[in-house]
Amino acid sequence: MKLVQTHIPGYPRIGAARELKFALERFWRGEASEAALQETASKLRAQHWSTQRQHGLDCVTVGDFALYDHVANHVQLFGCEPSRFGFTGGEAPLARYFAMARGDSAHEQCGCGHNGAALEMTKWFDTNYHYLVPEFDESTAFELHSKQLLDEVTEARAAGHRVKAVLLGPLTFLWLGKERNARDGFQRLDLLDSLLPQYSRLLMQLRVAGADWVQLDEPILGLDLPNAWRNAFEPAYWLLNQSGAQLMVATYFSPLEENVSLACRLPVAGLHVDAVRAASELASVADWLPAHKTLSIGIIDGRNIWRSDLDTALATLMPVLAKRTGPVWLSTSCSLLHVPFSLAAETSLDEEVKPWLAFAEEKLAELALLKAALSADERVSGQVARGFAEARAALASRRTSARVHNADVAKRMAALACDPAAARRHAPFAQRQQLQRERLRLPAFPTTTIGSFPQTQQIRTARAAFKRGELPPAAYQQAMREAIEHAIRQQEEFGLDVLVHGEAERNDMVEYFGEQLDGFTFTANGWVQSYGSRCVKPPVIYGDVQRPQAMTVHWAQFAQSLTGKPVKGMLTGPVTILQWSFVRDDQARADTAQQIAAAIRDEVRDLEHAGIAIIQIDEPALREGLPLRRSRWDAYLDWATKAFRISAAVAADATQIHTHMCYAEFNDILPAIAALDADVITIESSRSAMELLGGFASFRYPNEIGPGVYDIHSPRVPGSEEMADLLRKAARVVPPAQLWVNPDCGLKTRAWPETAAALQNMVAAAQKLRAELEPS
Ligand code: GLN
Ligand code: ZN
Repeated sequence: MKLVQTHIPGYPRIGAARELKFALERFWRGEASEAALQETASKLRAQHWSTQRQHGLDCVTVGDFALYDHVANHVQLFGCEPSRFGFTGGEAPLARYFAMARGDSAHEQCGCGHNGAALEMTKWFDTNYHYLVPEFDESTAFELHSKQLLDEVTEARAAGHRVKAVLLGPLTFLWLGKERNARDGFQRLDLLDSLLPQYSRLLMQLRVAGADWVQLDEPILGLDLPNAWRNAFEPAYWLLNQSGAQLMVATYFSPLEENVSLACRLPVAGLHVDAVRAASELASVADWLPAHKTLSIGIIDGRNIWRSDLDTALATLMPVLAKRTGPVWLSTSCSLLHVPFSLAAETSLDEEVKPWLAFAEEKLAELALLKAALSADERVSGQVARGFAEARAALASRRTSARVHNADVAKRMAALACDPAAARRHAPFAQRQQLQRERLRLPAFPTTTIGSFPQTQQIRTARAAFKRGELPPAAYQQAMREAIEHAIRQQEEFGLDVLVHGEAERNDMVEYFGEQLDGFTFTANGWVQSYGSRCVKPPVIYGDVQRPQAMTVHWAQFAQSLTGKPVKGMLTGPVTILQWSFVRDDQARADTAQQIAAAIRDEVRDLEHAGIAIIQIDEPALREGLPLRRSRWDAYLDWATKAFRISAAVAADATQIHTHMCYAEFNDILPAIAALDADVITIESSRSAMELLGGFASFRYPNEIGPGVYDIHSPRVPGSEEMADLLRKAARVVPPAQLWVNPDCGLKTRAWPETAAALQNMVAAAQKLRAELEPS
């Protein structure tokens, strides 16, 4: 039997009890010193390494820790903080770090010509982690500041660990950034030549500091890369390899496809591949990779929380091991940043579901079991056999559980699948529009909001007390009804045309529905870093989804009983619910989406029966579900838009279906947006000054659109003339009869005074437009 080693591409850093989050917040509030923050950080690193060591990993990973974000760490490591911040070099590194991460309000106001706005945040590949976007221009210079990283290597070595340092590879680092204030024709790839020498120096330093290996993450090898970027890999790595450090290039999240041979050819000592997302490529990688190189196989899913099928994993590994003469490492598919720490903290989790799961620490144990099974002469040595038996039992229980498989759901899915009419509104849009206009009698440029109103302290307190069992149901209902009544009265006063109940009862737009659907469960501590100190606790979808009873109808009905104006029913769409949860891996995502869609469909029907004439189905996550490879977009958009239509199409023609998406990059998915066939779509557009509407106009988007006229992310109250101007701009590209008037997104993070002022101005803006260009 061959000896394999184990490692992981990275570990979560926020702390099992979110220690880093709380330490950061104390520091930001001025309640703790920098030394206290650094001490927490160093304790967490020590703990995480020792956990890795306890589970028998052959080296610990150093460099995956970040106080805020690992990409921001690289900006400091390579000394390329954007000049717009106006740093003099006199500031403490930590102050500059947090200025980039959170903005430097002093500089925003000082009139010195500098711009202290935080670095933009964007999603890390197709995960829900947000990184800070580096900014590059032709004057960007690099200067190595490696002390922190080298200190961490020393820390780990002092604790007796064998060290593998991890860095973003130079190409991925540049790729993740953007050009800002750069001269025409400048491309950030132009900076590679000046960046590489700094990488080389760093690699030498790491070697001297005692890092046995350096992992260079190049997940962009799984993207559709422009040729210039692909061609840059070989020469760059040829240079880096001169440093004498042992380099492992790591890829993950997506198949390498046309880059398989490029990745295998790179002049480095090892290659890590994702054998979960790119399972079918493993064999060809094993063939292509030169015999002397180390192959790291990411066999355990680092993106999800399910216990692995160890027998299947062994069956996958055996032929590869038989073929390879060079060293083989076993690993998780990617960094464990995307999963919670440990099941040990889940004391109240559903007893049946718990053994089906594996969080970060349990995944380390799985690696240890695989390694033991592959390395032992006697496969059935007691502990390994017990570990495998336990895993098999858990998997068998999951496969056969009545909680997972619901025959009614299966029957309904089969029926839906062979009924194309179920995913299609009865009449085409033009006819529906006519019927809806007759029914709703709305003015031109109808005004509305996106759903939520300010979540006051009072609302939060009532909800939390109810959840803890300290507020009786009747008192809770009463508190929510008061919040709804308040929201309705306010909206009437502002003069809005289509009202909402305000979502006071919702803590979160996915959790609220998940808690009421069969097939979902919730952890107590399953936190995953979203950005900086922010964490999310995604629901776990473990089984067939079904809606036992109505979820929102009584709130909507109550709200509608208070007013003669139409009240919009408010639902979260199937793709968003799917996208923001941990999704079961024993059936296709498309199938799970369709089950959720059927549950939302039931809710749409019940809302309609309760007399609700307008129903909004929010899909803010539709776009982020796009696969990393364009060749897979169509298949995704196909099932995703179908799921939306299954939810919506049960509505009668005279019922108006709205959808909402809070982002502005639509151009490459406009056909899919149109395929949703929502009667009205509301989108973010105030920050881009309606720029995105150009796309809608040239596409001749057929249905009605509400381009947001004010940015809800800021407390600033825009004047009515400013909003009217945006509307005039919109009316130049979209037929005025198609336009709605609304903010960019929900108002739950705002306070009432600014909300009232902004919405009154918004209504005034709509009135101006009606007077100016009443559409015929
Ligand atoms: N209806 C939700 C709200 O108003 C929509 C939130 C979102 O788009 N993320 O809060
Ligand atoms: Zn939104």
